[in-house]
Amino acid sequence: MELILELKNNLNSYMEDLKEMNEFFYNNPELGNEEYLAKEKYCNYLKKNNFQVEENICGIPTAFIGKYESTKKEGPKIALLAEYDALPEIGHGCGHNILGLTSLGAFLILKKYVEEYGGSLFLIGTPAEETNGAKVTMVENGLFSDMDVAMIVHPSGKGHYRSSTSQAMEALKFKFYGKTAHAAGDPYNGINALDGVLTLFASVNALRQQTLSTSRIHGIISNGGLTPNIIPDYAEAKFYVRANKLKDMEELVKKVKNCAKGAALSSGTKLEIENYEFSFYDMITNKTLSNLYENNLKKIGVEEIFEDEGLGSTDMGNVSHQCPSIHPYFPISSKEITGHSLEFAEASISEKAYEGMEEAILALSMTGIEILKDKELLKNIKEEFNKK
Ligand SMILES: [Zn+2]
Ligand SMILES: [Zn+2]
Repeated sequence: MELILELKNNLNSYMEDLKEMNEFFYNNPELGNEEYLAKEKYCNYLKKNNFQVEENICGIPTAFIGKYESTKKEGPKIALLAEYDALPEIGHGCGHNILGLTSLGAFLILKKYVEEYGGSLFLIGTPAEETNGAKVTMVENGLFSDMDVAMIVHPSGKGHYRSSTSQAMEALKFKFYGKTAHAAGDPYNGINALDGVLTLFASVNALRQQTLSTSRIHGIISNGGLTPNIIPDYAEAKFYVRANKLKDMEELVKKVKNCAKGAALSSGTKLEIENYEFSFYDMITNKTLSNLYENNLKKIGVEEIFEDEGLGSTDMGNVSHQCPSIHPYFPISSKEITGHSLEFAEASISEKAYEGMEEAILALSMTGIEILKDKELLKNIKEEFNKK
């Protein structure tokens, strides 16, 4: 109890700063890889509070790392992750404004305990979660390979949700090439690239019945020709293909590609397939770490933790294949609201959001302290990870 009070007092001294930053991000939403204002705000704040700051991480201009290492002794390496990208039109409809600040809050609080018990602390600013997830590049550069744990807590509508799975995802672009002709005068001299796209959609729709009920294939026509009286010589579709497990997704991707090859054959078009964004792995929650976080939520009075279905994808999945990770959710509203909406963005600056944020920061901090103090606990967390 004493510790909780101590942490609450400590957090109180930062709360006004966190709120100010949250509203600044809300009022200045930036798309993925364009989060220059947000990055600057974070870096300036970290420098002001005497943390080491590295910028331009893995060649990504809007990524950063805030660092604190114990001068006295070695110990666990704890990574807290911050996202701060927004969505087109609806701004912070995924609440990444408040997401990153939850990690910052825990980072500020944990400094004292790293000083006391040893170890090192990282606040990693990871751009573009909604598109070309920077965590993928960071994982490829080995940034997480020697972390002992990585934690991130995402906002949700009502209630705390358990860290569960997320879907593996691949982003595919299908480019069909044909030949122009007058659509009324001599259509028989043309090769209709749009037919390639339309047949692809029809084949994918037929494929749906043979997929797992949890798999998702969703696409748009990103180029369907110029005008009705020209047979289009170019047409293009973008798809996301998702499944709960990486292996299932890879199988499904093969089938979707076959749909496109069939569509090219029947329409007489030439086909090119490319990945237009990074692929995300499925999220593997470290149960030992997740239980620790949940017990700490209960200690501060959270009564119920809900089960998450794990639909949707995140680049945190890639991190979870590198080191023990969790990705739970904290409430920002007293009613159910859907993500990626204007309503969700508005809720992210409400009093309810700050209550949820405080709970998440306290539970993250308590979890961090236990990891720093208890070597046996970290051993169990890593044993579980190594088994997988
Ligand atoms: Zn989102
Ligand atoms: Zn999100």
